[in-house]
Amino acid sequence: MDFKARLGKDAALPAMDEDIEKILLSAGDIQRRVEEIAARIAEDYLGKELTIVAVLDGALIFTADLLRRIPLPVKLDCVSVASYYGGTESSGEVRFDQLSLPDIAGRHVLIVDDILDSGLTLDAITAKLERECRPLSTRICVLLSKQKTRRKETVAHYVGFEIADEFVVGYGLDYQGRYRNLPHVAVLKEDVVRFGNFVSGS
Ligand code: 5GP
Ligand code: MG
Repeated sequence: MDFKARLGKDAALPAMDEDIEKILLSAGDIQRRVEEIAARIAEDYLGKELTIVAVLDGALIFTADLLRRIPLPVKLDCVSVASYYGGTESSGEVRFDQLSLPDIAGRHVLIVDDILDSGLTLDAITAKLERECRPLSTRICVLLSKQKTRRKETVAHYVGFEIADEFVVGYGLDYQGRYRNLPHVAVLKEDVVRFGNFVSGS
């Protein structure tokens, strides 16, 4: 999709696609895969009561699409964590932003996140929920999984796409708060990441 065309050539701000090096996964690729994962989840949890725990903010868009394709009675909770603090490398520390945890005692829980990178975030979330909330079962679903050696051996039961170890944005994933609204998953130009030379305005 050409954002510039949609904004019109006289738009005051240059479009986000000016900051993009390449599109890794098109909107169509993503939607087809989300459909497949939803079908598998629906099959696996048939007859069970499922609670989806979305990891904000990155998993917001993926969760919204996934949830609407699972034809089962599903509950939704969210947790909010930060581990990157605006950069492109994990700080190695996971901070929980909310005071109360979801009420998931005795429930089958599917934790949904945008991407599995070092594994620290999902490992910390799973450990905390299992320890403090006593769910009946926990599984992990991620849109993307980076092919790399993880710092924590976290296993995702449902994976949208395996990708190379590079920093990506779009479809919920941000760089300094931007690009979450891109319909595809893309790699940014080096200039943008190294020097913060955003072509698109703030
Ligand atoms: P981990 O703890 O597995 O290293 O990282 C998990 C979190 O870091 C993800 O939920 C995501 O918010 C962020 N992250 C990891 N890799 C990327 C990436 O390539 N792009 C973006 N935008 N965020 C990432
Ligand atoms: Mg995240």
